[in-house]
Amino acid sequence: MALIITDACINCDVCEPECPNGAISMGAEIYEIDPGKCTECVGHFDEPQCVVVCPVECIPKNPDYPETRDQLLAKFANLHPGKQPSDASAGQVD
Ligand code: SF4
Ligand code: SF4
Repeated sequence: MALIITDACINCDVCEPECPNGAISMGAEIYEIDPGKCTECVGHFDEPQCVVVCPVECIPKNPDYPETRDQLLAKFANLHPGKQPSDASAGQVD
């Protein structure tokens, strides 16, 4: 699943630079995640980096985008042609 930023976001700016897929950007009022680019960090890290840094825990999974680990890996491959998934994300489940 892609993740989603809720309206509890305080616009602290710390998550945007941590996203390895460039999926986070400032929206009209709060930061937003592009579900087409969010892989839950699968392919890069063993846990979602935005969730790790967010001080208010406002980034749950987006139920509108159910995806398996294989689908997230396929999204990673499309976003990063020729790049191999990191070993660090090997144990991450969907
Ligand atoms: S989970 Fe990873 S890929 Fe998805 S928005 Fe957060 S940092 Fe980016
Ligand atoms: S880290 Fe959390 S509170 Fe800060 S901008 Fe990102 S989603 Fe909003």
